[in-house]
Amino acid sequence: MIEEQTHPAITPPPRDLQRAALRGARQKCPACGEGQIYRAYLKVNDTCPKCGEELHHHRADDAPPYFTMLITGHIVVGLMLTIAMTYDWPNWLHGIVWPAMVLVLSLWLLPRIKGALVGIQWALRMHGFSGEPDEIEIAPEAQLPRG
Ligand SMILES: [Zn+2]
Repeated sequence: MIEEQTHPAITPPPRDLQRAALRGARQKCPACGEGQIYRAYLKVNDTCPKCGEELHHHRADDAPPYFTMLITGHIVVGLMLTIAMTYDWPNWLHGIVWPAMVLVLSLWLLPRIKGALVGIQWALRMHGFSGEPDEIEIAPEAQLPRG
């Protein structure tokens, strides 16, 4: 019988995905939950100011705005339709309330969603969070022989 063996030196201990995502959503370091994940509105600290965990490996890219728009759109459009069918608001009121709600909700959600995604990447040891250097992505045409 072949038993699967885990080597502590090779297989690092699993990280709690939910806890890391929640810590990130609270804009805290996914490793310790105490240090601030951001040094500015959406600028992730290179390392955690509390525990020193490297955070610069994250690659949130376009995912935070995508999920922010998805969530904000569903909330605002749902409310807009409900209000439009229930009350008789004048158009100027619709013109003020919904854009303001989109703006406030988006600006509030974006750092929380980005923090959660950084936490998820950290917990899953994606990119450089594994301790191994991340693969360098090279455009396919850059790998072609020259000449
Ligand atoms: Zn930390």
